[in-house]
Amino acid sequence: MIKYNLKCENKHEFESWFSDSKEFDRLKSKKLIECIFCQSKKVEKSIMAPRVVNPKAKNSQKHVSNLDMKNFKKDLQNLRKFVEKNFEYVEKNFANKVREVYYDKKSKKNIYGKTTDEEKEQLKEEGIDLVSIPWVEKDN
Ligand SMILES: [Zn+2]
Repeated sequence: MIKYNLKCENKHEFESWFSDSKEFDRLKSKKLIECIFCQSKKVEKSIMAPRVVNPKAKNSQKHVSNLDMKNFKKDLQNLRKFVEKNFEYVEKNFANKVREVYYDKKSKKNIYGKTTDEEKEQLKEEGIDLVSIPWVEKDN
């Protein structure tokens, strides 16, 4: 089951459950979705951006200054260690795995992996924002 935040043309917002990501489109094309407030059939999804990656990891990038490349690198190494310790590495089909985790509300899993720019764009269109982090070598 997927919960979508929906918004009608009159900016009424409400939530609704669907059995999968395609059901919304199916129902909408049959004009079976309407605003619970004004019965408008012009209803769009407005999904909130999920947290696929821990926001802490994102913040650590903000402490970067050009004057301090050594610490910068150390920060990135620590960031990498943090991610490796707390996140599950997904080697294949990362984009699909992200969807799995995102649409399964019970899952609290943190995952990381690589996407192509294209996959990242597709996920973004679905309302899934990924956080990219620079990946540094552990040594050197
Ligand atoms: Zn409405």
